Amino acid sequence: MIERGLPEKTSIKDTIESCGVPHPEVDLILVDKQSVGFDHTLANDANVEVFPVENRDTNQTEKRLQSLGIKIFVTDGHLGGLTRNLRLLGFDVAYPKNADDRQLLEVMGRENRALLTRDRRLLMHGIVRYGYYPRSQNTDEQTIEVVRRFELSELIAPFTRCLRCNAPLEEAAKADVIDKLEPLTKIYYDQFRRCPDCKQIYWPGSHFPKLQKRIEEIRSRIGLKA
Ligand SMILES: [Zn+2]
Repeated sequence: MIERGLPEKTSIKDTIESCGVPHPEVDLILVDKQSVGFDHTLANDANVEVFPVENRDTNQTEKRLQSLGIKIFVTDGHLGGLTRNLRLLGFDVAYPKNADDRQLLEVMGRENRALLTRDRRLLMHGIVRYGYYPRSQNTDEQTIEVVRRFELSELIAPFTRCLRCNAPLEEAAKADVIDKLEPLTKIYYDQFRRCPDCKQIYWPGSHFPKLQKRIEEIRSRIGLKA
C-alpha cells in the first residue's frame, strides 16, 4: 500500500510512474474496483490497485492494458547480447546502431514493435505502448524473461534469422556459396543458410554445439523439452 497526495488533477499513468513503475509494465488498473485506462484522471481518496502482466488470470475479463500479440521488438544499444540471443531463437529484433532515444521510439512506432530497454525513463515515455524492462543484467536470464513475458515459447525457431542484421535466412545450395568458403569448410559441411541482406553465410560449424547448448539451456529453463 502506497499513499500519494495529489497536488492537482493527475493522470493515473503519471501517478503510477511516480512510484517508479513504467506504464508498459502495467496490465490492469482498478480504481475503486473499476478497470480504467492510463488517461484516467485521479480524484483524491481513490483506491487504486495495479497489476503486472505476469500471472495474468485468463478468467478475468477486466480491461487489460497490455497486448500479448506483439512478437517483434526493438532493443536499445545496451542490449546487444539479448538481441543476439533472441535472433538466435528466430525472433525479429531491430537493433538500430548508435540510435538515440528519439530514433528508437521512431522504429518502435513505425514498425509496431515492443521496446526492450533497461532505461526506465525511456519506457515511461508517453508514446511507448508496449515494452519491457529486463530485470536481470545477465543475457540468458533476460532472454528467458522476454520469452515468458511475451509468451514466445511456442514460436522458437533456432537458426532461422541473421544474427548480424535480423533478416530471415534462406537455404543456400553448396554450389552457390562454395567460392565464399574456407578450404576446410568446403570439405566438411554440406548444409548452408545465407542472409539475403548482408550475405553472411551460416553453417553448423565449430561454434554450433556451443550455440545449441545455449538454446537447449534456455528452452529447458522455460520449461520446454530440448
Ligand atoms: Zn544478415
